[in-house]
Amino acid sequence: CRPKVLTTSASDRLPSPPARPVDRRAADGNLAEAVARDELRLLYQPILRIPDRAVVAVEALVRWEHPTLGLLTPDRFFAAGHLGGHMPLLDRWVLRRACTDMLELRGALGCAAPAHVNVNLSAPTLATDFTEPVLAALDRTGLPARRLRLELCEGADLETLTRAAPRLEILTRRGVAVALDDMGAGSTDLRYLSRLALHGIKIDRQFVARMLESPRDDAIVTLLTDLARRLRLRVTAEGVETADQLAALARLGVPFVQGYHLAPPLTLTDLTDILLAA
Ligand code: C2E
Ligand code: MG
Ligand code: MG
Ligand code: MG
Repeated sequence: CRPKVLTTSASDRLPSPPARPVDRRAADGNLAEAVARDELRLLYQPILRIPDRAVVAVEALVRWEHPTLGLLTPDRFFAAGHLGGHMPLLDRWVLRRACTDMLELRGALGCAAPAHVNVNLSAPTLATDFTEPVLAALDRTGLPARRLRLELCEGADLETLTRAAPRLEILTRRGVAVALDDMGAGSTDLRYLSRLALHGIKIDRQFVARMLESPRDDAIVTLLTDLARRLRLRVTAEGVETADQLAALARLGVPFVQGYHLAPPLTLTDLTDILLAA
């Protein structure tokens, strides 16, 4: 039994990536109420293995189906979430839903389902006792821990991540894998790589976006890929938008890719249908 393969013809049938939202107003309003009113939605973006395009994992990406503003991406409402102190609540909701959805996907696809679901943890959550919500989501849904992977956003500072390290170790001992997201963006500190029990890194999409035009960005992608290999970390390149970028990443030996060129974030229904048809 093998994971499903997304060929170019299969991805032709995918919905096109979301157009940039025209309305840039930030959503105010209370994220806690959005959770209570059941207005959050999760989309899943496939992560593919090079060279066979097998869908080995999906990343859960949250949206707010706002009553008047429509479907909002995180850039429209995370600032309010941070200000209101609601990010741990949001992350808890996402964890629970992602585990439930992953079990549903495995029910539909069996062993051909993606092996892992990646869930982002925000910096405010990393400052709390997040082992409890992670383990509670696994225990209450019954999803095996090895199916869950956490992505740590680089917005978290070194102090927060250093204090989070023992909690991350508790989770990794249970079988949950941890990756550092948006590697190279923000104030990247290599101490993250030496101090945290990491399983992988994700190269920030700004480097992928410019790697074909800018030798410097190409050098950074090359360096991060080599570094990951030496540290025995799995490396994923984000934001792959063209076939040329994909070919360049394949030449560098990047093993995992994610981006609009391969598949946009999808509803659970669309993801299930596409994988069933693949
Ligand atoms: P991220 O974790 O780095 O997620 C990847 C982002 O890149 C997603 O944006 C995705 O839709 C977008 N993306 C994927 N492929 C491409 C591409 O080819 N080109 C371009 N330009 N963009 C692409 P999204 O969903 O708007 O999320 C933005 C950020 O918000 C995420 O960045 C993550 O840091 C955060 N986020 C998203 N969902 C969650 C969540 O459930 N919980 C938490 N704590 N944070 C989340
Ligand atoms: Mg992420
Ligand atoms: Mg990322
Ligand atoms: Mg990113």
